[in-house]
Amino acid sequence: MKPEEVLKEIAEQTGTCTRCKLHFSRKNAVPGAGDPNTSIMFIGEGPGFHENEQGLPFVGAAGSFLDELLDQAGLSREKVFITNVVKCRPPGNRDPHTEELEACKPYLERQIAAINPDVIVTLGRISMSYFISNGKISSIHGKHYWSNGRMVVPMYHPAAALHQPSLCSVVKEDFAKLPGLITKAQKTRQENPNLISKSQTDPVEEESDDHITEQLSLF
Ligand code: URA
Repeated sequence: MKPEEVLKEIAEQTGTCTRCKLHFSRKNAVPGAGDPNTSIMFIGEGPGFHENEQGLPFVGAAGSFLDELLDQAGLSREKVFITNVVKCRPPGNRDPHTEELEACKPYLERQIAAINPDVIVTLGRISMSYFISNGKISSIHGKHYWSNGRMVVPMYHPAAALHQPSLCSVVKEDFAKLPGLITKAQKTRQENPNLISKSQTDPVEEESDDHITEQLSLF
């Protein structure tokens, strides 16, 4: 199946999904949107009020800021894929519960496999924890890691920066690194074609180019 066909099927499945109790308050599932053939995927936490109304990710205030950040990095919604770890809105915008994350996991895993991005940007703590256990966002934001053969870059959630203006410049600086990181991830994956199938599930932080080679040779 082509990536766009897989994504369409997932969108249909999430619309009628009853795998967790979030479906009780669902108006629209928010499977994700963007380019199925992109090299970069952004993963947020879960739909909020406006997303539940419209069925699209990041359409509220945090979404406008995300658009600005993408624009500054020379990217746009049309060129990337944006989704969340859970596809239905947690009531009152609470954090998704463990069983909800587990129930929604197959959809995200299938989206990642279909799109096959070089870089995954996690937006906020919940989505970061999905890939990097025991990470502390305040110390690891903007750094790059390898998880299952893909580069993972944890970032602050755009909403956090809106609530805490001192984070705005930090988030902007982190996003500005993305074009360089995409190039780096593509080069690394081209040079190591078996990275995905052979890689470890535990993420490994890269500290320097030398360190990368050393780490990748372990895969
Ligand atoms: N916050 C998220 O994490 N995801 C959305 O889609 C909107 C707001």
